[in-house]
Amino acid sequence: MKTRLLSAADPDAPAIAADIIKSGGLVAIPTETVYGLGANGLDEQAVLKIFEAKGRPQDNPLILHISGPEQIEQFCHHIPQAAYDLAEAFWPGPLTMVLPAKDVVPRRTTAGLDTVGIRCPDSPVTREIIRLAGVPIAAPSANISGKPSTTTAEHVLHDHDGRIDAIVDGGPCRVGVESTIVDLTERRPRLLRPGGIGPEQLISVLGDLVVDKAVTAQVDKDAVVKAPGMKYRHYAPTEPVVIVSGSRENAAAYIRAHFEPGDRVLCFEEELPLYDGCNPLSYGREADVNTLSAGLFAALRELDDPKIHQVYARCPVGGGVAYAVQNRLKKAAAFHIVDAEEEI
Ligand code: AMP
Ligand code: MG
Repeated sequence: MKTRLLSAADPDAPAIAADIIKSGGLVAIPTETVYGLGANGLDEQAVLKIFEAKGRPQDNPLILHISGPEQIEQFCHHIPQAAYDLAEAFWPGPLTMVLPAKDVVPRRTTAGLDTVGIRCPDSPVTREIIRLAGVPIAAPSANISGKPSTTTAEHVLHDHDGRIDAIVDGGPCRVGVESTIVDLTERRPRLLRPGGIGPEQLISVLGDLVVDKAVTAQVDKDAVVKAPGMKYRHYAPTEPVVIVSGSRENAAAYIRAHFEPGDRVLCFEEELPLYDGCNPLSYGREADVNTLSAGLFAALRELDDPKIHQVYARCPVGGGVAYAVQNRLKKAAAFHIVDAEEEI
């Protein structure tokens, strides 16, 4: 199969992409979070192709992308007021809500669950594709399963050239980490995955939030979890990653003391001078956490090289989108963290 590269700036792109979706094909779509690998979310055969292309376990559900909040009721029932309040505050945007699924949503899309993750993305071209296709687009991140997510069309081409029908190139993703996921099917709202909408923002609307333990700790691979995707190794380059926390100076002292040839350092731009001779790679500025979230996955992809022995990573502190960056880096590091303050 030849993978067609479409530019989001091409006025014909939405109609071409929508036709592929309608005929059961796969299109990589740009969103503000990461690139998604999209198919008709109501078509079991089309959805199956997503799992095959990614090598994704069948028990890992997909997110249904819709063109606006007015579509929630087509695919979900028993919708609490909180869902409308969150949609009003954060859609279109990087927030997925888990709600009870109507029967029209195939269990292939929800990985057998009777709930569905639903989101309205903040990308005009992608919303136009959904509108023209006339169906919701099921899409997980467009990376090969287990690898860092795709935040440029080049990343998608690298993983799927010749295996999917088309890629719509909308440039690098603005947020750069996947959507925040909040489960609204229990008595209390539960954060299943941090993302572009911070926990504080959710609490400002919901007045309450439980943080699922999969967000803060390693989940056993045999565990029964609320968000099945969370138990799989994620975002990980091939070599081991260790997060070194603590002050700039103490972390640099620890890393420089342990650094061996073939290792790499993933750090903030402000820290580059501290790692002269250690082959450092910056993923953004600590002073602007949005540059860190936007740059993280591209950097993890660059570090996905079997010749590298070990990566020492620096991680931002704080809430908002920094909380999501911490979560992705901790998962990439399989929660392996060294505190430089204790080691010095
Ligand atoms: P990805 O976009 O690749 O991160 O995959 C979508 C993720 O959304 C999955 O891995 C799940 O963690 C989450 N998800 C989607 N639907 C549900 C659902 N019904 N219940 C819980 N989590 C969900
Ligand atoms: Mg993913």
